[in-house]
Amino acid sequence: MIVKGGYLIIISGPSGSGKSSLTKLLLDNFKNLDFSISYTTRQMRSGETEGEHYKFISKESFQDMVKKNEFLEYENVHSEMYGTPINPIKESIKFNHSILLDIDVKGASSIMNTNHFDCCSIFIKTPSVEILKERLLKRNDISEENINKRLGEAKNELKKSTYFDHLIINEELNDAFEEAKRILVGL
Ligand code: 5GP
Repeated sequence: MIVKGGYLIIISGPSGSGKSSLTKLLLDNFKNLDFSISYTTRQMRSGETEGEHYKFISKESFQDMVKKNEFLEYENVHSEMYGTPINPIKESIKFNHSILLDIDVKGASSIMNTNHFDCCSIFIKTPSVEILKERLLKRNDISEENINKRLGEAKNELKKSTYFDHLIINEELNDAFEEAKRILVGL
């Protein structure tokens, strides 16, 4: 499938809502959709590849990029820094591709509040906070203390869902994917 070129497709929502799974399905299915590879100061997890999931850098290098205005947005998420580099976005748009950003709600809001690019923003959430908790508990990479912190953050993030162009309730990943596909095809 092909998506209209020149768009920033922003996928955002609370941690555990299914952003990464949805992102992967969309990237596998849309030929001219690129992925915005963020820079982060967090440690690489097992199964992740440098330059594919993230660019893993030191806090000093991150600050250096901030000073040089190399990020479209950056945020502190769960006590680590994450940033969206601006140059790959310009490159994608130059080739009439669109580019997908999997970023947190604060970062998404800051991009949506500027008018530099055409955006299509999608907020994804679970049907309830209880289901979100169950999904976070199933992940083996987060401590219980951290889960409670993320649930607290999720409650604030959910209040911002109305600022987004589209809302997807992720009960079944495949249905969420079908809905996202409809949104992208209709751009
Ligand atoms: P994780 O460390 O689990 O991969 O991601 C943690 C959170 O950071 C997720 O909500 C993810 O969407 C968000 N994130 C990843 N890259 C960026 C980025 O460049 N900017 C912002 N604001 N958030 C990001």
